[in-house]
Order: sequence, then C-alpha cells, then structure tokens
Amino acid sequence: MRPVRRPTLAIGSVSVSVSAMDRRILHVDIDAFLASVEQLRDPALFGRPVAVGTGVVASRSYEAKARGVHTAMPLHEALRRCPDLVVREGDSRLAERYRQRVAEVIGRFSPVVEACSLDDFYADLTGVPLRIEQALASTVTVDAERSLGPLCRQLRAAVRAETGLSVAQGLGSTRTVARLATTKAKPGGICEVPAGRELDFLAGFPVEALPGVGPQASGLLHAVGVRTVRELWAVDRELLRRSFGARGDEIWRRCRGLDDAPVLASPALRSISRETSFEPRAEVGSQERPFLRAMLAYLLDRAASELRRLQLCARTVQVRVGHVDGVRAERSRALPAATDRTDEFVAAAGGLLEHLLGRRVLVRLVGVTLASLVAPGPAQGRLFDDGDAARRRLFAAVDAVRARHGFGALVVGGAAGLLGKLPRGPHGFRLRTPSLAK
Ligand SMILES: [Mg+2]
Repeated sequence: MRPVRRPTLAIGSVSVSVSAMDRRILHVDIDAFLASVEQLRDPALFGRPVAVGTGVVASRSYEAKARGVHTAMPLHEALRRCPDLVVREGDSRLAERYRQRVAEVIGRFSPVVEACSLDDFYADLTGVPLRIEQALASTVTVDAERSLGPLCRQLRAAVRAETGLSVAQGLGSTRTVARLATTKAKPGGICEVPAGRELDFLAGFPVEALPGVGPQASGLLHAVGVRTVRELWAVDRELLRRSFGARGDEIWRRCRGLDDAPVLASPALRSISRETSFEPRAEVGSQERPFLRAMLAYLLDRAASELRRLQLCARTVQVRVGHVDGVRAERSRALPAATDRTDEFVAAAGGLLEHLLGRRVLVRLVGVTLASLVAPGPAQGRLFDDGDAARRRLFAAVDAVRARHGFGALVVGGAAGLLGKLPRGPHGFRLRTPSLAK
C-alpha cells in the first residue's frame, strides 16, 4: 500500500533523498537476553517460563511471554498469571560477557559495531556484502549485492553456535528503519527493508514506536488525532519544532526515513576480567594459601584462554581481593612484554596476591584482569625465543583440546590445586560466580 500523499508532505524531495541514500544499517537485538542467559547458565530452565528481575520483570523467556508475562510487569502480577514462573535475579557480569561475545561475532561481519543498550547493537554494512562475496568467490551476483539476507543468516548462525543466544535482525538505510525492522523480526528473524521502500515500511507504525517519541510526545500527538507515522507526515515541521524543540526536528526526519545519524564504533575491548566469590565460613579450605593461589591460576587461565581466542596479548595483569568486611584491594603489574601465556600471567600475579593477603580478614572474592591489550605484531614475534615458541605451541594445543571437549577437559599448572576441592564439569570448575560456560 502506498502512503497517502498529503499536500503538506514534500514527497518528491523525500524520495530523492532516500534514493540518494545507499547506506545499509543493521540492527541486532538479542531475544529475551537476560532470561536466555539464565537458561544457558542452568539448562534445566530450557523450555520453562523464566523471568529475570527484582520487583518488576526486566526480561522474560518466550515461554513466559506465552503465559502472559511481559517486560516491566510487576513480579507479583507475573506470578499470578504464571504460578510456575522461575524468577531469577540475573547476573550482570555473566550477561556482559555474553554481550561482548555477541559484539565480537557482529564485528566479524562489519568494521563498525556500536553497542547500544544492554542487548542491542547497530552495525554499518554499507559496502560490506560486495567485499565478503568477493572474498568467498570471484563471482558477485546481483542478488547478493541487493540483499544482505544471506549475510544476516550467517551472522545469526554464528551467534547461535558461539553463544547459544538467538538474535533478531533489522536492515534498512537509517538507524530508525533498521531498529523498527527488528521489531518485525522478533524472535529470531531477519527483516530487510529495501532501499526506496522506507516510507511504505514506516507508514503503519504507531508514532510511539519512533525513537524520540516518548509517552509525553505520543500523548500530545494522540490528543490531536495523530496515531500513526502516516498521520505524522501531515504535521507541519515548524509545528513539531515548536511543540518538541530540537527533538521535533529529529522526529520529522525520522518518520520520513531521513535520519542520517551514523553508526559509531564502540570503544574496543580494553580488558578481560574473571572473578569468583566464595563463602569463606562454609567452604572448608577456602582460606588456605594453596587454595587461593590455585584459584588465582584458574581465573588467569580462563582470562588468558579468552585472550588467545581473541588473538590478543596483554601487558598488564591485575589481581583483586575482596574481604568479608567489604574492603576490596587490588594491585597490578606491567609485564616486560605483552604475552598471551597463562604461565607468565600466573608467575607475575603470584607476588601480587601475596601482598593482598596481608590483612587478617577472611577472603570472600578473588578476581583478575588482563589489560593493556594489543594485537601480537611481527616485531614482537622476533623477540620470542625458542622456549617461548614451545610454550606457545603447548597453549595452542591446550586451547584446541578445550575447543573440542570443553574448558574442563584440561587443568593447567597451578589450578591443579583446586582438584578435589571444587565440583568440576565439562566447562571447568563450578564456581559460585560462574565464568562464561564453554
Ligand atoms: Mg532484546
């Protein structure tokens, strides 16, 4: 259906601008993000109605949605509608690690990825399909240039394989069009708005679906009988400006698919952290030095294997300790050269831990951070002596075994001190604050 042409709407200039705009922006939204993270952490929750939140529902699984549970609903109302709803508080650190993994996957498909809110991203795919098709084969089909569908399906499969999460994707020539396209793709789908079809696509949305139109603005618009984007086209630009200030102008452009705000790359990953907490009075042996040293080695091994997976090296290692009285302390140390070897991190961090254990108060938390991340360069490669090369081959072999059989398949060096003291599964030791599984 074509949009109704109204005299106040300069359709001619609109279509000219749109055809001149050949940007392709992808919006990616993780389906039921926090609830899915809980299901991944505890597979017994798969297929069950799950909600995450305290007080109100922050995220719900699609099983819960089918039972009438919605985001922002008070939990007592959610439990009334769905008495067997599993309610969890969520784990923001674990969620952040999943989010980073999704961002990394998207980053393989686009040079510019912007992490937006907790669970969505924009990526600029302008000019990308051509490059990818050329890299895969010498022939470039017209269809491949026109549609990014195949690329989005690859992206979806990669996110699923590497994180277990499901994503919905929207594609369009502007951020607004891409974002709204995603709403049509939930859950798990792909909605692509071809260039030149932006107005048809936007026409039927309610005005409050537009970014920037909050409850106040939509209330005002509803009061004057403007409920859909099509009806919004009839409202004079000056009137929008007078009613909503600078935002009025934004709304005027967005509802026509004219917003040209770019996708801004989020700052690159600056550090990799792992930490865990324990119940010092209940967990026998958790206060002994060998146990704490072994835990440190284990956390460093987890962080270092993530570092190697990302093909990065770190120059700084930081150790932090939290005590039962709430006091936290940290120490860091710069290494002589950037490395990705677990054993070098463990050697550097051991002394730091000893310093931090000077207080005679029970330890409740141990954490590590690898920072000053760099890509291993050729100049650095020349500095590696033979012993280093052998060690690096060893860790490459360790990583390969773990990629096949799970992180828990091998216990490296100092972490062996945890054997028999902590329960262990295919993805490693079971910690109270779990590291990202797999
Ligand atoms: Mg979402």
